[in-house]
Amino acid sequence: MSTVRTRFAPSPTGRMHVGNLRTALYAYLIAKHEGGSFMLRIEDTDQERFVEGALDIIYRTLAKTGLVHDEGPDKDGGYGPYVQSERNAQGIYLKYAKQLIDQGDAYYCFCTKERLESLKSQVGEKEIAMYDKHCLHLSKEEVEAKLAAGEPYVIRFNMPTEGTTTFSDEIYGDITVPNNELDDLILIKSDGYPTYNFANVIDDHLMGITHVVRGNEYLSSSPKYNRIYEAFGWEIPTYVHCPLITNEEHKKLSKRSGHSSYEDLLEQGFLTEAIVNYVALLGWCPEDNREIFSLEELVKVFDYHHMSKSPAVFDIQKLKWLNGEY
Ligand code: GLU
Ligand code: ZN
Repeated sequence: MSTVRTRFAPSPTGRMHVGNLRTALYAYLIAKHEGGSFMLRIEDTDQERFVEGALDIIYRTLAKTGLVHDEGPDKDGGYGPYVQSERNAQGIYLKYAKQLIDQGDAYYCFCTKERLESLKSQVGEKEIAMYDKHCLHLSKEEVEAKLAAGEPYVIRFNMPTEGTTTFSDEIYGDITVPNNELDDLILIKSDGYPTYNFANVIDDHLMGITHVVRGNEYLSSSPKYNRIYEAFGWEIPTYVHCPLITNEEHKKLSKRSGHSSYEDLLEQGFLTEAIVNYVALLGWCPEDNREIFSLEELVKVFDYHHMSKSPAVFDIQKLKWLNGEY
């Protein structure tokens, strides 16, 4: 039995555009190609970005395209997805954040909005305001008094300020960043929810994910994740960041722009098989020049080592051509 474990981890923030579908498909194929497992995890800890109906679109799209997940909490006699808001209610993320505090790798931060704003205004417009570790220097007694007084707080990761971090991606290679460019990122927000970054790392570890497959917009924040893995002494997964998909004007396709979602394409008369086939080819090149694949055939031949890092252009003419072949 293979131990490859992947997941699709969408945030319910809008429509499911072809880029999201491709991420799900590649994660599915990477697992299935090795006889491994594919999981579904809903990353809904950013309550402000939640869009009504987005979950239904995700579930419908995965079901109709055949990207069925293998594991999950029991639900109606089957497997439900892992849902981060439910996991948060079980106290999972706070428990790990507290472990980091005990180890000295995280700390409570009581800084007000005003103070954080003033840090921002001290740097030029283009620079990112790094948190100045002000609250790292509070004494244990000061922290306890503030907590007892009910002062609002966040929990921040204590990034090292010296040295470098090298992050390795299967598609983009090694990326090295100086540690003093890594901000003390927030792990737990003042509303008690974990940030996307933190919940993502905790769950990838707890779910035993071996290959993290996601869009390349996450590439630049990924070095920070490695620091969190290291603080826990956890094994860092293999990262597979998928290339950007652009429209014909070479602009990024976005889930909010409302076009090119799987369901839009269905409405335009494209067949599911053609859409899945086409999406697979957006950033991956089969070894021979074949272009027509069923999902089962993709499982057999898909190899992420043949993915490309250059942006893929969404070409509706090609999809039309494929559609005619089914
Ligand atoms: N929740 C993220 C999103 O919907 C995906 C993050 C990941 O796959 O690691 O874009
Ligand atoms: Zn602070």
